[in-house]
Amino acid sequence: MTVEGLWIKYGTEAPWYVTYCVYSYLALLSATFVANLPFLIIEVFFKNHPYIVSRQINPKKSMPTEKYWKIFKGFMRGLLTHSVGSSVFAGLLFRWRGCSIGPLPSILEVVVSIFCFMLIEDTLFYWIHRLLHWSEFLYKHVHIHHHEELQNTVSVGHQYFHAIELSLGAGLPFIAGPLLLKSHMVTFFIWTFVMMIESSIAHCGYDFPFLNFIQDARVHAYHHSHYMDNYGSYFNLWDKLLGTNKNFKQYEQRRLAKQK
Ligand SMILES: [Zn+2]
Ligand SMILES: [Zn+2]
Repeated sequence: MTVEGLWIKYGTEAPWYVTYCVYSYLALLSATFVANLPFLIIEVFFKNHPYIVSRQINPKKSMPTEKYWKIFKGFMRGLLTHSVGSSVFAGLLFRWRGCSIGPLPSILEVVVSIFCFMLIEDTLFYWIHRLLHWSEFLYKHVHIHHHEELQNTVSVGHQYFHAIELSLGAGLPFIAGPLLLKSHMVTFFIWTFVMMIESSIAHCGYDFPFLNFIQDARVHAYHHSHYMDNYGSYFNLWDKLLGTNKNFKQYEQRRLAKQK
């Protein structure tokens, strides 16, 4: 059976709540697994390997093992509880918007859509994230949950949020693009993988040059260690436009000068 045939049988012809809600959650679950597994293997088995140590962004401040498992537990708890509800809710919104579950989209449509999702996500994430830092109340009661345990970033920290932030700060920018564009559900499932891979790399705490084409982990690691700058995600578009990466740029210049 062709891919199209499989999709018609198990997507288009399945009960709508399976295609919109259950598959949304399964996509999130599997994308999170794929995105975090390599870093989980590194943390458990190769943390002290000389190459891994050499790529650590904050080599002097390695995260204690107990703290790592505390974040891991929080991440798993969120994934098995809050994310179920969020995925079902997102699925209902996709159905309400009339996102297609018909014949598969073309590769060009998927690529263009995902590029648009990235721009929308980067913009919404930036402004919500700035608000979470700008408002003392929101920082103290919501965003602190993501920051206080993660001065040093680890991949599983990418879903370690207060429930409100998981829905509005991370969830809304993630689903806004597919909702606005009324995208095909398969495009959304692929986007889920792109999103989880990008955010886990942003939090991985290692500078692997071969991953920089997706995300430079130093950018978000700086935000976590200095509590300022780099509020965006994919392109840090608004950081560049509004100069909220100024301190980071100076910091990087000093770091690179020291290496020479
Ligand atoms: Zn922040
Ligand atoms: Zn973060």
